[in-house]
Amino acid sequence: LVSRKRKPEDTIVNVNGEEIGNGSPTFVFGPCAVESYEQVLAVAQSIKAKGLTMLRGGAYKPRTSPYDFQGLGLEGLKILKRVSDETGLSIVTEIITPSHLEEALDYIDVIQIGARNMQNFELLKEAGMANKPVLLKRGLAATIDEFIHAAEYIISKGNSQIMLCERGIRTYERATRNTLDISAVPILKQETHLPVFVDVTHSTGRKDLLLPTAKAAIAVGADGVMAEVHPDPAVALSDAAQQMDIKQFDEFYAELQRFMNTH
Ligand code: PEP
Ligand code: MN
Repeated sequence: LVSRKRKPEDTIVNVNGEEIGNGSPTFVFGPCAVESYEQVLAVAQSIKAKGLTMLRGGAYKPRTSPYDFQGLGLEGLKILKRVSDETGLSIVTEIITPSHLEEALDYIDVIQIGARNMQNFELLKEAGMANKPVLLKRGLAATIDEFIHAAEYIISKGNSQIMLCERGIRTYERATRNTLDISAVPILKQETHLPVFVDVTHSTGRKDLLLPTAKAAIAVGADGVMAEVHPDPAVALSDAAQQMDIKQFDEFYAELQRFMNTH
């Protein structure tokens, strides 16, 4: 059902009026994790000032180590909702287990399914029965074919409001945190009718590569770009090394706009 052969025209995912996949890129920015109301609000105001409509932030964090910050959970969802009510931004946040999904739907606009859960089939089926768009990230070691099949799990349950997100894959290369598979974008656009995002933060893990990879994403036809922004990355409870601060975010976005206006 996700195949371009079955449905030649692009799927446009509508998130509170933001049409994703309509030809002009959508941007999803925000902190890695929700840490406090003030932290989320500071980033949200900077997003809003740019005329953008979407805010990301994890309330449930699937961390490599059980001793690392696991997220604020429901309290984090409440912070996101409060900031959304105050700014009008739409909330994209990761859900890590089917049992959290129903409760979370009251607080969020887009269900993010993270790389580590790309083949959590019960979660995919549950998201497929939800009446909210889903942003599905590519697994760290998933082939494009496996990624497409994961999206098929969601659509097979009735939800066709799906966005795919390339976020880098595990290779032998250690210069970047993961290897951004930029060719996945045009392949996914050819093979499916779904909008495709590129997450430049988790793919590169390097602030100095955010701008060039975001430009590359837009140049190859991505429908959106995701990146992480934190008011004070040095004290962030997760991904401290790779989140932009607000000034870097302003510069990043201004440069990206210049690029889009001249290409
Ligand atoms: C995230 O976007 O917060 C995240 C954990 O990314 P990924 O699932 O791609 O690692
Ligand atoms: Mn992160």
